[in-house]
Amino acid sequence: VTTKYGQLTPALIAKLKKIIGETNVLTQEEEREKYTCDEMPVPKPHLPDVVVKPTDTESVAKVMVFANEHKIPVTPRGGGTGLVGGAVPIFGGILLSLERMNKIIEIDTHNFVAVVEAGVTLSDLYKAAEEHGLYYPVYPGETNATVGGTVATNAGGMRAVKYGVTRHFVLGLTAVLSSGQIIRTGGKFVKYTTGYDLTQLLVGSEGTLAIITETILRLNTPPAKTEVLFIPFPSIEGAIDTVPEILRLGNLPAGIEFMERDIIEKVREHTGKEIPHHEHPAFLMIILETDSQEALHEAARAIQEVATKHGAIDVFLPPSERAKRELLEAREQFYPVMKRLGILEIGDAVVPRSRIPDFVKRIKLISTEHGMPIIAYGHAGDGNVHLHPLGHGMDREEWNKKLPGVFKDIYQAAKELGGTVSGEHGIGIDKKAYLSANVDKDLIQTMVSIKKALDPNLILNPGKILNIPR
Ligand SMILES: Cc1cc2nc3c(=O)[nH]c(=O)nc-3n(C[C@H](O)[C@H](O)[C@H](O)COP(=O)(O)OP(=O)(O)OC[C@H]3O[C@@H](n4cnc5c(N)ncnc54)[C@H](O)[C@@H]3O)c2cc1C
Repeated sequence: VTTKYGQLTPALIAKLKKIIGETNVLTQEEEREKYTCDEMPVPKPHLPDVVVKPTDTESVAKVMVFANEHKIPVTPRGGGTGLVGGAVPIFGGILLSLERMNKIIEIDTHNFVAVVEAGVTLSDLYKAAEEHGLYYPVYPGETNATVGGTVATNAGGMRAVKYGVTRHFVLGLTAVLSSGQIIRTGGKFVKYTTGYDLTQLLVGSEGTLAIITETILRLNTPPAKTEVLFIPFPSIEGAIDTVPEILRLGNLPAGIEFMERDIIEKVREHTGKEIPHHEHPAFLMIILETDSQEALHEAARAIQEVATKHGAIDVFLPPSERAKRELLEAREQFYPVMKRLGILEIGDAVVPRSRIPDFVKRIKLISTEHGMPIIAYGHAGDGNVHLHPLGHGMDREEWNKKLPGVFKDIYQAAKELGGTVSGEHGIGIDKKAYLSANVDKDLIQTMVSIKKALDPNLILNPGKILNIPR
């Protein structure tokens, strides 16, 4: 990819400071260093030339007019918790952080809607909704992520089975195009058919089509009761075969997670958390959220029956709120623990959920063929499989050499089973090669046309998702 972008000369930086205020433009190296990486497991740091922290949509628009005129690349950033390098400014230029746009504008208790700026963190959104007796169920497990970042990556997570993913909660957006034009899509209503659905085009676009500055989100009423079931099985096949029957029961669990002994043992070892039945080969963790105690009992009883029929060794119900929290926290520790283990990568292929056992089997074969341990776990209810090729006992160079072959085979297997490259984390820089190898050429070409129509100078988050020479 050629990178003929404009350079931010001292004169241009002075102009930028004039446009949006000196205190909103950071130029010192130690200030910029915080913005070189996100949570991608194998970091590829890049220093932005400046960090810009606008406080309102109009300022974002002014930055974009400036950047477009001078052909300066702009990388939008929320909480920097993304896992594919999406917020890494690989061509330098302007890193546009939304962190100061963190206002909860309105919690509308009549329409069950939150209107919030893009830099609001998930933890602040959860709190604000709760204070008004409402509930935002999207839960990727990383609460420092921002609303804008989760919209830009269409984040899913542990409660997607019952509620859906970010896309299903976004009713409207305020966004700034590369030209500086401000567009407002959707509104406080669930459905509309008024031209192209640009809201949903921007969801999951990873900052490559527009900068999201404000969002209108649907809220739910909170569940009255929650429960966690932890179910050990003698094999992963037994665990996964149980899932369609659980889904057929009707009253959908919020989440159905699968995992094997390898990850459970590592979490125990590294966090000291006591996990019941940890010695068994495979597990389902089921999160129930219901409107009454009776519904909770009924759902738990029905799941217990189905799981037992499929050979479950036990159905563990935590005896206290604390034990319940411990189990959920153990699940949230999977990625941090894996990260502490040293060399690793993360893939997040998605397959139809009925193909998870086949996919896990293929992953094991690939692991043996390449001599690289791979840990797999994920959201069994929606087919998202998180997989970590590990570099234990290998030096970095050997691992780097092997890794592309491992991922190539993994994504090929996902494709053959009716799946695709990323179910949740996006493409960013990390998965670009696999996107072009696994997605139809005409589809890619259509994406390129959309990108060029909305960002003709290719200044918005360049080098992410697609390789388009400038
Ligand atoms: C421990 C851990 C667990 C996770 N679990 C899950 C999970 O279960 N499911 C899941 O889906 N994801 C998961 N994620 C990844 C998740 O996608 C990110 O946490 C989150 O969506 C990114 O939000 P952010 O604000 O940190 O965005 P960033 O990392 O800052 O940015 C992510 C992408 O969005 C773009 N972007 C950010 N803000 C804007 C904006 N306002 N306008 C336009 N573009 C923008 C960036 O350019 C970048 O491409 C996990 C991450 C971690 C670290």
